[in-house]
Amino acid sequence: MLTAEIICVGTELLMGQVLNTNEQFIASRLTMAGIALNYSSVVGDNPQRLKDTLLRAKDRSDIIIMTGGLGPTDDDLTKETVAQVFNKKLVFHPECMEKMALYLKDAGRNMTKNNEKQAYLPEECIVIENDNGTAPGCIIEEGGKAAIMLPGPPREMMPMFNVTVFPYLKEKSGVVLYSRVLRLFGIGESRAAAMCDDLIKNQSNPTIAPYAKEGEVTFRITASAECEEEAKLLVDEKCSKMYEILGEYIYGEGDENSLANVVVQALREKNLTVATCESCTGGLIGKMITNVSGSSEVYGFGFVTYANEAKMQLVGVKGETLKKYGAVSEETAREMARGARLVSGSDIGVSVTGIAGPGGGSKEKPVGLVYIGVSDKHGCDVFRFVQHGDRERVRNKSALCALDIIRRRIQNG
Ligand code: AMP
Ligand code: MG
Repeated sequence: MLTAEIICVGTELLMGQVLNTNEQFIASRLTMAGIALNYSSVVGDNPQRLKDTLLRAKDRSDIIIMTGGLGPTDDDLTKETVAQVFNKKLVFHPECMEKMALYLKDAGRNMTKNNEKQAYLPEECIVIENDNGTAPGCIIEEGGKAAIMLPGPPREMMPMFNVTVFPYLKEKSGVVLYSRVLRLFGIGESRAAAMCDDLIKNQSNPTIAPYAKEGEVTFRITASAECEEEAKLLVDEKCSKMYEILGEYIYGEGDENSLANVVVQALREKNLTVATCESCTGGLIGKMITNVSGSSEVYGFGFVTYANEAKMQLVGVKGETLKKYGAVSEETAREMARGARLVSGSDIGVSVTGIAGPGGGSKEKPVGLVYIGVSDKHGCDVFRFVQHGDRERVRNKSALCALDIIRRRIQNG
């Protein structure tokens, strides 16, 4: 596998004034091009340190990708330094000068003397045109190694990368990576990993990379092969095994997918509607659902019943129930879910009542205790959770649990 190294040039990056988004962008695409990124560095606008970094990179990596330092001013030194390290002369490219003149004219700006510097590129390079700025990029090849230079501004760099660099890299690597992301809810990372320990232990191609965040676990399964179909086959085979082991926890796939998204899609497919009745989450479930475009087809009623009066007035919880069992109880959650469903005429009602903390807990009803009810025409179930973490986490996790309960309810009939 070809190895690559990224060098981002710019004192502003070192000083923390500008976030290094170019690095993340390029790194994520290298994976897709089937190239292993082994090193990544940031160097200030300093010719000696850039030279040192380049010499090391040239030694240990097949491909060096640089961003920044292609500007017209004296501190922009990338091309000069690369030319030195790779023993190339800088030569004037009249066609680049022309393109730059056109660009500046369109932008209503004047060409200045120092723009000329930007039309000087290392001899025998592949020019990368820049449609969104003045500095062209370039690729030089030398002794089986390649150095790719791109401008710093992301809005210039990204299209240049997509149009020219990415196809160049893919062709060079001859390798295609393919991946699928499985998204799990209701299980911790270590338990999920332990359950598919055999698959993870013996992995080489595909690789299985777990990642956990806010009650959610994802597994990215990635394979490399000579063509996408072959890589896909390897990934699909591994994914089937993961589904066999972890299927009940897998709610969806993809980088951007959310639990709310999956719930809304599932409701749409089955032509069902849901109503929420929220106490301690204060409308969070409703927010998550309505974040999904198209949710109005499946969601019309959200009751925020924070006070006991609201629980009684809006969804008909009995005063007697509240008095006897309390607001945070299985019985109240049941009446909230049922009430929300009946009052709204929805197919499913879901309710949350709990103690988000930090105050309000007791021995019998500790902070984090949450009841989630779900009601449909077949009946009503209530689930009891004790969530850990601060108020925000308890609320957030409870809302996600409620969404997962809706998802399971729909999927199981
Ligand atoms: P340069 O090509 O060095 O003149 O960079 C011009 C501008 O691009 C900088 O002032 C930054 O705002 C932006 N920039 C440069 N490098 C990066 C980077 N690695 N990530 C995000 N923005 C950058
Ligand atoms: Mg710079």
